Amino acid sequence: MNNPLLTDNNQIIDFNRLSKKHINNATSYIIERSKENLSKIYKIDHDERTFENTVRFLDDIFNDLMKVSEIVSLLAYVHPDDDIRNNCLECTAEFGKFFNEISLSENLYKAVKNYSETPEAKNLHGPNKKYLKETIEEFERNGFALSKEKREELKIYKDKLSDLGIQFDSNISSYEDFLIINEDQIEGLPEDYKKSHLQDNLPAQQAGEAGGTYKIGLDYPSYIPFMKYSKSDECRKELARKYKNTAADKNLDVLKQILIEREKMVKLLGYKTFAEYRTEDRMARNPENVWNFENKLKEKVRLKAEKDYQELLEIKQEYLGDKSIQTIESWESMFYNNILLKEKYELDNQKLKEYFQVGYVIDGLFRIAQHLYGVKFEEVVNPSVWNDDVRFFEVKEENRLIARFYLDLYPRKNKYNHAAMFGMTTGKKLNNGYQIPTASLVCNFPKATEEMPALMLHNDVVTFFHEFGHLMHDLLTKAELASQAGTNVARDFVEMPSQIFENWAWDYESLSLFAKHYKTGEVLPKELHDKMIAARNVGSGLHVLQQIFYGTLDMTFHDKFDPNGEKTTTELVEELQNEITLYKFQEGTHFEAGFGHLNGYAAGYYSYLWALVFAEDMFFEFKEHGIMDQETGMKLRKLVLERGSTIEEMEIVKQFLGREPNEEAFIKSIGL
Ligand SMILES: [Zn+2]
Repeated sequence: MNNPLLTDNNQIIDFNRLSKKHINNATSYIIERSKENLSKIYKIDHDERTFENTVRFLDDIFNDLMKVSEIVSLLAYVHPDDDIRNNCLECTAEFGKFFNEISLSENLYKAVKNYSETPEAKNLHGPNKKYLKETIEEFERNGFALSKEKREELKIYKDKLSDLGIQFDSNISSYEDFLIINEDQIEGLPEDYKKSHLQDNLPAQQAGEAGGTYKIGLDYPSYIPFMKYSKSDECRKELARKYKNTAADKNLDVLKQILIEREKMVKLLGYKTFAEYRTEDRMARNPENVWNFENKLKEKVRLKAEKDYQELLEIKQEYLGDKSIQTIESWESMFYNNILLKEKYELDNQKLKEYFQVGYVIDGLFRIAQHLYGVKFEEVVNPSVWNDDVRFFEVKEENRLIARFYLDLYPRKNKYNHAAMFGMTTGKKLNNGYQIPTASLVCNFPKATEEMPALMLHNDVVTFFHEFGHLMHDLLTKAELASQAGTNVARDFVEMPSQIFENWAWDYESLSLFAKHYKTGEVLPKELHDKMIAARNVGSGLHVLQQIFYGTLDMTFHDKFDPNGEKTTTELVEELQNEITLYKFQEGTHFEAGFGHLNGYAAGYYSYLWALVFAEDMFFEFKEHGIMDQETGMKLRKLVLERGSTIEEMEIVKQFLGREPNEEAFIKSIGL
């Protein structure tokens, strides 16, 4: 076939040779072949149905598709050639359509359901039983347990919701507003910020009476520094007001419609609320568990948040020379937090960077992961990759190849501009052996220049460890079915292996293995590390409380709110913000209209914090046995990373801990 994307088992992809034609051909070929294979499943007689020819074969079909679609969607983000990237985007959409078609295939549902009634199916156990059960549930969540008419009705809601979701997102991304200010009002901002926000020919009517010459938009690189450094309380207040009115002109109505349609959809499927529908197949299982989680955490975190608030208040009183001040407004928090960090904790991030040369960091991270998980990473010389910067590694265990990964670490034009792990091939048991998992880390770390080696902000070091945690989860899998391998776990568990690994970027013992001054080789001084930890905990309670507010707001919208009722979405925001956070609601704002997570993460915002609480609880095992203790590392590997979703995630956590999980370690980790 000679198409580099259509590889034999465990063959490496020859990226050098890849053309647009290969991508198109591989996409249509694999979709066609999958259609043929699916119809083979439909045609089997009831008596002939087995796990092999129905359920495992379905997993094979998914695997076939993913082996191409995952590479194509990676290249859509990272390939240097515009043409290839655009082409990959089109093919990704085609795959998306086809996956959607499969999830709505009545023939397939009937075949799997039909198999589930055989004696063999009734005697299944372990991962196979779980996969069969979840496959059927997934179909039924798509409406297959309903009558034909009701399914038609469901389709109407789903189509409407899909349109509304697109509108909601695009109203946010296309929304524009800005603040025009003059020389006096921009005081406090760094020179390079001022320079890049100076407008030469501002129309007189925009410049206004104050004779404004600077234009401050709502994008992050404009908004965050302004809220941190601007000395004008009035301007920060006004910019925050504008920011929290993002898309409010259109999305208040769209959001209401979305909540109404979601409710109709899940009622038809037999659920009481959208949150019940959403949490059912996640680790949380039901809204009640999420409510207990948020409420319990809220109480405990509040103690730290109140301390944080007091600390900020003292800074504000000092700054304004007025001891009688008793409140801090939401638009003041970043400003005073920044002063607090500078005056009391004086952490110089630029100085800290000198201890994080990219090469040392990669080396240190590799040593840590190799030691903890008993594996070796070996770099492949002259690999065939999509860009010269990309490096390619093999993961070996006692000289046996068990996984592969690519590192694409540096920025370039039109490349994906965040940090993420992209799965490429998942682990899976095949007839002739195990399919070796392959994945990529895509990041944007600074690149070395002739005068300076590449130095990383500590923040970037933490991100690197986070993404590497995802990578190890994907690569160390031993699951037999692709659908259960690696990071294919419940959405509220997937951030556990990544968040636990961040801890090695904070602990002194692990840091001292690689945080060395790029000129002198001196190990990160203990005093500097103490400052890092102290600074890490500044405002941590207020931050977590804010996260709890977002999670509670999202859960309330989807579990305890009547979109047709008297109360508006904004009234709910006001009520919850005043109740949960220590900052008063800012009048005249409609934050929910620009809260993009309400679309993609509906009834799921709690997930990050949820997974973090488990991660910290599990990390405590390392604290007890030593952060570099290989036995505990291997335990994490065997009980968590290798298993994917072959067993319930809650069971994984309990087995690792040897007890019920709790939030104690998390509470300690934020400095209480
Ligand atoms: Zn993550």
